[in-house]
Amino acid sequence: MQLYNSATHQKEEFVPHVAGKVSMYTCGPTVYHFAHIGNLRTYMMEDVLEKYLRYAGYDVTRVMNITDVGHLSSDADEGEDKMLKGARREHKTVMEIAKYYTDAFFADCAKLNVKTPDIVQPATGCIPEYIHLVETLIEKGYAYVAGGNVYFDTSKLEKYYIFNDFEEEDLAVGVREGVEADDNKRNRADFVLWFTKSKFDDQELKWESPWGIGYPGWHIECSGICMKYLGEHLDIHCGGIDNAFPHHTNEIAQSEAYIGHPWCKHWFHVLHLNTTSGKMSKSKGEFLTVSLLEEKGYDPMVYRFFCMQSHYRRSLVFSWENMDNAATAYNKLISRIAALKPDSGEPVDEAVFASVREGFVKAMDNDLNTSLAVTALYDVLKAKTNDATKLALIADFDSVLSLGLLDRAAALRDKQAAESAAAAAAREAELAAAAADPFVAEILQLIEERKAAKKAKNFAEADRIRDYLASRNVTLIDSSQGTTYKIGE
Ligand code: AMP
Ligand code: ZN
Repeated sequence: MQLYNSATHQKEEFVPHVAGKVSMYTCGPTVYHFAHIGNLRTYMMEDVLEKYLRYAGYDVTRVMNITDVGHLSSDADEGEDKMLKGARREHKTVMEIAKYYTDAFFADCAKLNVKTPDIVQPATGCIPEYIHLVETLIEKGYAYVAGGNVYFDTSKLEKYYIFNDFEEEDLAVGVREGVEADDNKRNRADFVLWFTKSKFDDQELKWESPWGIGYPGWHIECSGICMKYLGEHLDIHCGGIDNAFPHHTNEIAQSEAYIGHPWCKHWFHVLHLNTTSGKMSKSKGEFLTVSLLEEKGYDPMVYRFFCMQSHYRRSLVFSWENMDNAATAYNKLISRIAALKPDSGEPVDEAVFASVREGFVKAMDNDLNTSLAVTALYDVLKAKTNDATKLALIADFDSVLSLGLLDRAAALRDKQAAESAAAAAAREAELAAAAADPFVAEILQLIEERKAAKKAKNFAEADRIRDYLASRNVTLIDSSQGTTYKIGE
């Protein structure tokens, strides 16, 4: 499988450290607010990556953190603590909002068919691990204490900037508006491993440490959690593109300084979902959630379909018009699948199955091209083969894409069956009423005549019948199911 690696800036053959096994780490949400649909784009694409690796036969172990402490609003070491800000906004404790928004995050994931990682670890649960890491980094000369905080010394590294050739000047802390330079730092790119001199007097979460009471920096939590569960060799680390710098850059710096050898082979970054007016952002407070999509009548699967139609390494623009187009395409796809007979008893044609599946595998092996994988679904519908083979292929592809195709198709078939049963029952009731009442029999007869007139394009006759019935106080009601009537007002 060819996968783009942000650390080497190229597509590479994916080869895990141990044959057949994949260790995968995902930066989890900062649980101070609902996840927006941009965050969820990232989690859906990571979900597809995990599922495809399993589909390809790897034994995957995936770990995700939940950031419930230490993430400041600038992503560097400045600004407000996001969790505190959330707690203040809602007049609750940090732990209360952490629990509330963690549950909300997984509820959204479930609606989008995003599998929960094998291990989910809140950051506040691994404080001894971070303290051990920081102590070791100080011992090894990679970290220093200044002004009560512990900092990582980036000048000790041969190469600090991994993902881009950033200009150090451009990153100068202090030149950005509203952000104060930290005079304790020896180098501009240095970052906090452990805070004790909290800028926040009301900091709720703090722990004893060799450097005084304090709390961990955001970056150390991912290194600590990742190495705790997945050891010193990581195969894939994922996140949204904004995580590449400074978060992932700092994770690499501290993890490799700690273990003394290369750490993560492969970096997978998902580009952003933007609105027509720019990046979607939680901190701005105005953003779209899965619940909002549902309130507006969209099935969350339509959003997943929309995301799968584009490549994870391209930024994606969200608009209601785009959602409507995705909904139309998704619903059409579902009705075509619903028309396939699920219990035909025919055998799956293995030769056709293998050849159509090849198209799907080729797309996914080429840097997870989900857009072409979706096209492969249409190739299934066009294939010259029986329904059993088509359904088996759709089930196979959807074990990775997770678009709920067979479930939604079964639900549509049930709905259609219920509608025809209701229409048949109504027709029977009409016939029974006609048998009992000559006026009803006349109305039904005229409805049939009007139908025949319309079919023969004799609209004048059809209108005459309608007007005649209206003169006798009968209203005709036309719908896709046929024509019914109402007597009286
Ligand atoms: P956060 O909860 O802010 O820590 O972000 C959770 C995940 O969503 C991270 O992997 C971010 O990189 C990612 N992310 C943030 N904004 C967007 C966006 N607009 N589109 C896609 N992913 C995003
Ligand atoms: Zn992280």
